[in-house]
Amino acid sequence: MLTHAFTTERAGARVVFATGCTSRVAAEVDRLGATRVLVVCSPRRGRQAAHFSDLLGARVAGALPIAAEHVPIATVKLALEETDRTRADALLVLGGGSALGLGKAVAAERDVKLIAVPTTYAGSEMTDIYGVTDGGEKRTARSARVRPSLVLYDPALTTALPLPASLGSLYNALAHAVEALWWPEADPIALLAAEHGLRTILDVMPALVAEPTSIVAREQALLGAYLAGVALGETGTGLQHKLAHLLGGSFGLPHAATHAAILPHVVRYNAQAAPDALRCIAKALGVTDAPAGLQALAQRLGIETRLSALGFSLAYVDAAVDKLLATPMQNPRKLERAALRALLAGACGG
Ligand code: NAD
Repeated sequence: MLTHAFTTERAGARVVFATGCTSRVAAEVDRLGATRVLVVCSPRRGRQAAHFSDLLGARVAGALPIAAEHVPIATVKLALEETDRTRADALLVLGGGSALGLGKAVAAERDVKLIAVPTTYAGSEMTDIYGVTDGGEKRTARSARVRPSLVLYDPALTTALPLPASLGSLYNALAHAVEALWWPEADPIALLAAEHGLRTILDVMPALVAEPTSIVAREQALLGAYLAGVALGETGTGLQHKLAHLLGGSFGLPHAATHAAILPHVVRYNAQAAPDALRCIAKALGVTDAPAGLQALAQRLGIETRLSALGFSLAYVDAAVDKLLATPMQNPRKLERAALRALLAGACGG
């Protein structure tokens, strides 16, 4: 009997990966045919963005240093107005998943090309997924319109990302790879990217802790982020991401750190329903018990694994479970109230 079935949409982006490649940004923008570029970033990346504006010269239509975590609807409205006002034909987004989320929200509604210059390991640049937070709820959607046309991966831009943020962001990438592994009917190329990404990220995490400014480690980390992003872009998200979004959107928890805290618990929750994924995760960790291996990894890396330390409390468990049960998702194991309560209570304590 045939056991493989999948439907896939290959991303058509141009991807350039090389230390120092962003010095060629003007030539790459010309190659893309963009002439009026709006430079988007978060307020703290303003100085770095100014450097890109200098490199782009007359191609710059304006700057929008207003991106914020979880893409608040107010920033999307401002960005749409600025896109219209400047008649931009492309948005160059410098930053992590939050800044790119703003760019994607604009690209969903306007005819602009997206250029992504990632400075974290979130991997959003390789996906057609975007999300906007409105009235305390982060709603996500998928659209081919929001896939960047050009991605410039320059590991040198990530050396300033502080170690805790780097590890948190790598955990986000790890979560993409893990969820791709248990996605039903995943394209085999996505599975290869997920496996390779998983190994690359697990290998580089201790190296990054030992030497956070090592450009070799930063290259490995960004490569892992790219692979995990490719895997996510061709599959989808289940309990791990839906729970992380819920805890971020409704309870204000930081996205990347939340991924690290819940990952061992979600992997344990899905263990029986996704044996192949569990075997692959355990193999990459070099252990027999994947959830225990993930927990030990976090301890070795000095990562905060208690949701309680991130702003969540046992008192919120029932409200969170109610919301989870109302969230449509594809997950290998059915959502069960008692087991989800146990998962969250366990994650509160680490
Ligand atoms: P982020 O974009 O919120 O950035 C975190 C912080 O790091 C910000 O303050 C930013 O200014 C700072 N920063 C970024 N790069 C830096 C650098 N090189 N040096 C120093 N500081 C730097 O965090 P993130 O983890 O990149 O992204 C998380 C968000 O992305 C979440 O909202 C998540 O939902 C979303 N995301 C979306 C997808 C997708 O496919 N749509 C995929 C992954 C993540």
